[in-house]
Amino acid sequence: MAWEGTPKTMLEYPVQLGAGMKRCLNGPMGESTPIKGGCLCGRVRFQVSEPLLEAEYCHCKRCQRRTGTFASASAMTAPGTFHVTEGEELLSAFRPGDGWHDYFCRECGSDIYAQSHEDPRLICVPMGAIDGDPGVRPALHQYVAYAAPWDPLPDDGLPRYDDGIPSSRARGPSF
Ligand SMILES: [Zn+2]
Ligand SMILES: [Zn+2]
Repeated sequence: MAWEGTPKTMLEYPVQLGAGMKRCLNGPMGESTPIKGGCLCGRVRFQVSEPLLEAEYCHCKRCQRRTGTFASASAMTAPGTFHVTEGEELLSAFRPGDGWHDYFCRECGSDIYAQSHEDPRLICVPMGAIDGDPGVRPALHQYVAYAAPWDPLPDDGLPRYDDGIPSSRARGPSF
């Protein structure tokens, strides 16, 4: 599969995909909303009121460090649909100057969500934090130039990008 054109504005990309994904959700992969999730200790809970827009694997070194494994798998929420429902007082954020802000539970360390440093309406959630089927599947690998040497990329047929995908989704430079 290929991206249909390069997005020109910050929000054009997720909005385009959102329309298509909602059609997909009428199929067997559809899940019920709100989508619910939370952290390891269970004190922070969140909900997403509409279907997730799309998902990806990110192999940047920043994602390797924050997850402790070879890549992150995260899904984009539609603007205005993500809400922390319990434990907001337990959230802390890592705010690198040049990338998305990562919010995590101080009690157990779990990632809860990431928010664009350029447009706070853009929020993605770690797929592993979602309770059941998130309704979307990772559709690409990004920052594969930084992939962990100890885990070869799977032969899954998904498109691969050496650096960030051509949109505002990129968290920032790898280091
Ligand atoms: Zn927790
Ligand atoms: Zn990353």
